[in-house]
Amino acid sequence: MKEEELRGIATCKLCGEKIGKAGVPMFWRVKLERYMLNIDALKRQQGLGMMLGGHGALAMVMGVNEDMAEAFSSVEITVCETCCTESTCIAALAEDDETEFTSKVKSLSEAP
Ligand SMILES: [Zn+2]
Repeated sequence: MKEEELRGIATCKLCGEKIGKAGVPMFWRVKLERYMLNIDALKRQQGLGMMLGGHGALAMVMGVNEDMAEAFSSVEITVCETCCTESTCIAALAEDDETEFTSKVKSLSEAP
């Protein structure tokens, strides 16, 4: 990681302090991904499994192998060594990605 990139991510998402304040020359980069289940694909796959006598593993091989979930939003955050053991709300951590999330919700609501 080059200096410019490091400067861009050098603030801990949890405490808001620079990563160096922890006193340990390490930090975490955490990627949060939110997915939306494809209900229609799940129903099709379940239906195929039922037609095959309830054998889900056989349906997995016989099916069209379509995506069962779609990436909805993702964000990468920095966490300092002091905060890395804290428990926190994942949704609150991902709030910086709200614009992408909002645009996806709008596109889904406008779909026919
Ligand atoms: Zn921190």
